[in-house]
Order: sequence, then structure tokens, then C-alpha cells
Amino acid sequence: MRGFRKIIAYDDLKRLVIDNGLCTLCGACEAACPTHAIRVEETPQRLYNCSENLDLCPICYDICPHTDALIREATRFVSDALYRRESLGYYRKILLAQATSPTIRGLTRSAGVVNALLSFALDRKIIDSAVIARKSPRLILKLQPSIGLVPDDMLSAVDSKVVPCAVAEAFGRAVYEYGRHKIAFVGIPCHILALRKLEAWQHKIIDNLSITIGLFCLWTFSLGVLSEYLLHNYGIAPSEIVSIDLALEDYVVTTLDNRVLRLPLYEVKNHIMNSCRTCRFKHRRRSPLKGLVYGYSKDSEE
Ligand code: SF4
Ligand code: SF4
Ligand code: SF4
Repeated sequence: MRGFRKIIAYDDLKRLVIDNGLCTLCGACEAACPTHAIRVEETPQRLYNCSENLDLCPICYDICPHTDALIREATRFVSDALYRRESLGYYRKILLAQATSPTIRGLTRSAGVVNALLSFALDRKIIDSAVIARKSPRLILKLQPSIGLVPDDMLSAVDSKVVPCAVAEAFGRAVYEYGRHKIAFVGIPCHILALRKLEAWQHKIIDNLSITIGLFCLWTFSLGVLSEYLLHNYGIAPSEIVSIDLALEDYVVTTLDNRVLRLPLYEVKNHIMNSCRTCRFKHRRRSPLKGLVYGYSKDSEE
């Protein structure tokens, strides 16, 4: 037909998000693509030209957390919460908690609340799996998206993320490859927004989501950029690092030989990912998806 133009979302996703360095590698586009045309590794790649089979597909652009598509629809899930604060966004209750199990507390860095919640939910069969990020056994700085199936798996879930992790892609795998129906999902705000957008889209995989747990996030670093910065400025190779923690005005890096370095925040901030500089969750007043540990269950009243 003369004048007919194909509308393929990937073209806009690539031009406006990926090529502008705004992608935070969540993997949602890979999980959502109906033709399995995208793979997210160092950056999202299209494996073949999906427009050869389709005339119209808006999905990957719409569900990416760094586009304005579906924002209003995606945030309706939390905007009926009772309370709202400028610094927190919407919330129903604020609770101070820690895991009661000394084992869980000892294994984690932030009192083990997320790990304990997941173990409990799995044990009581509220969920049948949990999508988490865990540290790579070979490189502490690197995070691996992971599908936890037994309570012990939950002990390795990290409760903060300084580098990206494609947990939304792992959510797709939990559905397609593992056939899980009651999945808990743990992510930072842009990951949670990607899932909310899938929900607003009524994507078929979202019916398998039971619980979301959002984490606070200030920013993340590209693994390559962070590694280069630490090596170049402090002579620390990625393989030497045991942990990186935020402590008020510094990042505290601990190495295998027990060196402790305090990196000033103003210096570290020069290396954060592009999207984090203008993150809607930090700068938008009344941010509805600010990442405290907040939960949402389709079956619960609260
Ligand atoms: S088929 Fe996949 S890659 Fe192509 S536009 Fe749709 S979601 Fe994007
Ligand atoms: S959906 Fe996630 S992985 Fe895909 S382009 Fe957007 S931020 Fe990157
Ligand atoms: S600061 Fe915002 S954009 Fe950056 S990783 Fe965190 S939630 Fe995502």
C-alpha cells in the first residue's frame, strides 16, 4: 500500500534510549519482546530485523522505564496509597525491621529484611520463586540476575545495587523457561517501573508476578566505567574488591587484602550512568515509585 509506514518500536528505543546512553540494562525489553528479537548483554542488541515479520509493534519502547510511554497507567497501582511525602513518594506505612534469624542478618548487609521476606514467602508457598540479583562468584562487583527456587537461594540476594543487573530479563525466563506462576521480584525503581509498565500493557507474563519488592537507589555505574575509574585512580583491580558500601559522604571500598578506601561522593558521582543523572525517581516531586522496600501483592488489601 502506498504511503504505509511500518511502526517498529525498536527503532525509537535504539535512537532515543540506547544510543543516548540512557539504558540501565534492566532487560525488560528482552523479556517483553513477542518475537524474542532482543538480547541484553553489554547493551541491548536486536538479533534480527523484527520488521521483516511485523508491521506494527510498540512493546519494547512502551515498557522501557526510560521512555515517557505508559507512565500514568503504570503509576496508578500505587497512587491510591494513603500517604505521600516529598522525599518518599506514596506509602501506606513506614516500618523499621530486621530479620529475626541471626544467620540471615549475618549473611546480609542491611539487616536481611528482603532475604527474610523472600524466605518466608517461599516457605509458606505464597510464591514459587524469586527473581533476585546476586554477586557473581568470580567478580564481586558484577551482579547476576538469578531465579531463586528454594529458601537458601534467598540468602544470596543482594540488597543494594551499584552496577546494573538484568533482573527484568530473568523475570521473563522465570515464566518462559521455569514455568513459574507466583514470582516475587526484587528491583530498584527503574526495574519496578518496567514491571508496572508490563502490567499496564497487560503483557501475558505479568500474570505470573505475585510480589514486588523495591529497593532504594541513588544511582548505578556501568561496570566497565567503575572498574576503569578504580583501577586508574586507585590502582584497584575489579578482582581485588570485596565490597563497596555507601557511608554518608563516601563510598567505602574494601579489598581482599583488607585495604579500606574512602572515595569521596562528589568524585564517584562523575561516573554514574547517564539515566541516573536525570532519574525520574530522584528528581520528580511526589515520585510514586521511590524505592523503599515497598511491596505489592495482587491478593492483598494493603
Ligand atoms: S518485535 Fe521485539 S524488538 Fe521488534 S519492536 Fe517489537 S518488542 Fe521491539
Ligand atoms: S527496557 Fe531496560 S534493557 Fe531495554 S532499553 Fe530500556 S532500560 Fe535498556
Ligand atoms: S538512579 Fe534511577 S535510573 Fe539510575 S539505576 Fe537507580 S532507579 Fe534506575
